[in-house]
Amino acid sequence: PMDRLSFYYPSRMIKQVGMIGEGNFCQVQKVEQVGPENEERVAAMKACHISNELKGTKAGRDACIEILHEARILAGFINYTYITMFYGICFDEPIPKLIMELCPYGSVESYVTNKDVKITTAEKVLMAHDIACGMKHLEECFCVHRDLAARNCLISAKGIVKVADFGLSRQARELESEKLRFNEFKAPVRWMAPECLTRHPNFSNKSDVWSYGMTLYEIFSEGRRPYEEENDMKKVARKIRSFQHPPIPPAIVEACVIPAEITALMKNCWSKETIGRPPFAFIALRLKHVGKAFATICPN
Ligand code: ATP
Repeated sequence: PMDRLSFYYPSRMIKQVGMIGEGNFCQVQKVEQVGPENEERVAAMKACHISNELKGTKAGRDACIEILHEARILAGFINYTYITMFYGICFDEPIPKLIMELCPYGSVESYVTNKDVKITTAEKVLMAHDIACGMKHLEECFCVHRDLAARNCLISAKGIVKVADFGLSRQARELESEKLRFNEFKAPVRWMAPECLTRHPNFSNKSDVWSYGMTLYEIFSEGRRPYEEENDMKKVARKIRSFQHPPIPPAIVEACVIPAEITALMKNCWSKETIGRPPFAFIALRLKHVGKAFATICPN
């Protein structure tokens, strides 16, 4: 087979076969392309939205830079099981596009909110475990995700949950020099740690652990958004700054659907002091044990 020498794909080698979804800033399409060993494969292709009035402007350029930035981060995590796999990049005009593994079962958020599927506790623990494994790898690589949430964890063709959407992620050393405040319009406030909602935000792997606690909350409460009852984002931010975490839904505790270890873990992730929050390496290991125990004791 022909070895591809690079990860650059011209657009004539990419066939668009359908639309997957649109976020606030990006559009993701399903495509077919020829892989590195001349194999036909399906993939997901992500590009930023650039309306006509943004073309040639700084905002338009920034949107393109963000896609390239995401590609650069993903390219560093190739072949890691719990992170969406980078396939390549298309530089053709007018905007660069990121080509990556297609996760055909969509996001964890859409999966847990789907009323038609009954998800067992063992499966929820497994999803939480996979996400912790992906985040453990980021932690080892000194990469801070900054947008961890159930909507940004995707389910692969093999049913593995993968950490995705690295548009806002940064290397720890880049964060030190980044004086700019997080773009307020983009800030995922409900998932953000208290120390990140200040004048001088302090993002770290530990603020990712806080967001991981919110992701656990989403998984184990059938997709409830953190602080769902509050629509005023300023009030949400105030609650977080005063360390009020969302209540563990009482019906769920009574029905004993959440293993006690998970509730404890959620609370640890929401520790006031960052030092009290467990590292992802610990969370992944803990969930591996909980998952095994739960699958045998209580498969439902
Ligand atoms: P946000 O509004 O969170 O910033 P965005 O503009 O960055 O979103 P994404 O959330 O990355 O865009 O993607 C838009 C949609 O495409 C989402 O529904 C997401 O689940 C889906 N998606 C993204 N990447 C993939 C993939 N590799 N495979 C399958 N679906 C994907």
